[in-house]
Amino acid sequence: MGKYDVIIVGAGAAGLTAAIYTCRKNLKTAIFSVDVGGQTNLTNHIENYPGVDAMPGPTLMQKFLDNAKSFGAEMIMGKVARIDKKDKGFTVTLAEGTTYECRAVIACSGTVPRELGIPGEAKFLGRGLSTCTTCDAPLFKNKVTAVIGGGNAAVEGALELAHVGAKKVYLVHRRNEFRADEITMEKAKKNKLIEMVTPYEPVEIVGDKFVSALKTKHAETKQEKTLELQGVFKEIGHVVDISAVKHLVKVNERNEVIIDDKNQTSVPGLFAAGDLTTVPYKQTVISAGEGAKAALSCYQWLSKQKVTPIDWDIKGKK
Ligand code: NAP
Repeated sequence: MGKYDVIIVGAGAAGLTAAIYTCRKNLKTAIFSVDVGGQTNLTNHIENYPGVDAMPGPTLMQKFLDNAKSFGAEMIMGKVARIDKKDKGFTVTLAEGTTYECRAVIACSGTVPRELGIPGEAKFLGRGLSTCTTCDAPLFKNKVTAVIGGGNAAVEGALELAHVGAKKVYLVHRRNEFRADEITMEKAKKNKLIEMVTPYEPVEIVGDKFVSALKTKHAETKQEKTLELQGVFKEIGHVVDISAVKHLVKVNERNEVIIDDKNQTSVPGLFAAGDLTTVPYKQTVISAGEGAKAALSCYQWLSKQKVTPIDWDIKGKK
């Protein structure tokens, strides 16, 4: 069983920044995550991160990871299924069953795509159904596609698909009014490749091995309309991922983890930072700052515990 001073769950801006700070305090640190970059990966062009030139989100996140590793952080790919409190710390169990021990945890697991809850959603994920237009739009050149949703992500996604050469883009939204900002809406309305399908609710994604159609239903008349296509993009927002800590911590009505001004959750030694917390304005720069704050609070908390720090081999640190 691996032992660490700190286990950080999630490798987005919050988790990776937290790792930089814990490592620089000589705390043996592992980051567990299903991906590197989190929500920042979903933007092609991040231009409001101070001090660096505009660049793709994944490029910026790779720099965060390189930075964390250069100070000794261990990156372990895997889904954390559960965190449990033990006498002198915590156990962290991965979905595949391996358990690790640590003295403190910083939860930075961010958000996961919201579910539509319709037939075909699970079956066709990665087989014509995507949750990220920014990532997958180029794969749908010359294809007929649909984007589901009415927020900025959906409307910008539809524009992105039209831009990369999709043959047609249905923008399927359950209401006639969109949440997306007016400038983006104007661009979408003027684009001849985009057809608004409103107010229609998605009811089923159909196909054999790959997606071949999206069944929809008029929100008022309930009349069905089937769109023949090869690609469906689900851009209906995200929900916080508290699956590993929900049995432990206090959350608000949106399931966000409640933290104090030092990122301490309701469980001593379990800190949280980034999009899964109650802190408003979900932005990369804010998550990075919150990650740093959580790490410093964690260090301060560990320093007060009467437990000998875990001896660790600092070979490999630059
Ligand atoms: P969002 O603004 O919450 O919009 C989600 C959309 O999905 C809503 O239109 C909602 O419909 C629809 N929806 C939710 N559940 C659904 C379901 N089960 N079936 C069908 N439709 C469903 O999410 P977002 O577009 O991902 O944006 C999240 C945040 O990031 C927002 O604050 C947004 O402004 C921001 N953002 C900004 C930019 C930018 O500034 N460039 C780009 C992307 C995102 P209803 O409208 O009926 O609720």
